[in-house]
Amino acid sequence: MPAKAKISKKEKEEFRKLLLEKKNSIVKKLSQYYSDSKEIETDTALDLVDKAETSYTKEFLLGLTDSEREQLALIDQALDRLQSEFGLCLICHKEISKKRLKIIPWAPYCIECQEKKEGESKVQ
Ligand SMILES: [Zn+2]
Repeated sequence: MPAKAKISKKEKEEFRKLLLEKKNSIVKKLSQYYSDSKEIETDTALDLVDKAETSYTKEFLLGLTDSEREQLALIDQALDRLQSEFGLCLICHKEISKKRLKIIPWAPYCIECQEKKEGESKVQ
């Protein structure tokens, strides 16, 4: 087995499952947040998230922390990439290691680029 084996269809399906599970757990949290004031079923919440895929309405996502909001966007982007070039770093276009993808399937960058990015934006 070559170290740089392409991601197989079966593996993509597994990643898709992981991504959807994570998305669901965030969306569920969101619908819980709203259940106090409005009745939003998880299905409805999911539907809203799907409709607002590119530009999330601020109000809807108020119940999420910044990192959850960011994660949700990353998950959606990763789901899109499953159609084309999932697993490639968006910066250097090298393959992201499967080990990394199994832990963070929505990771948009390889470890090196991620670390570089984090080094640049240590403003917090
Ligand atoms: Zn990279």
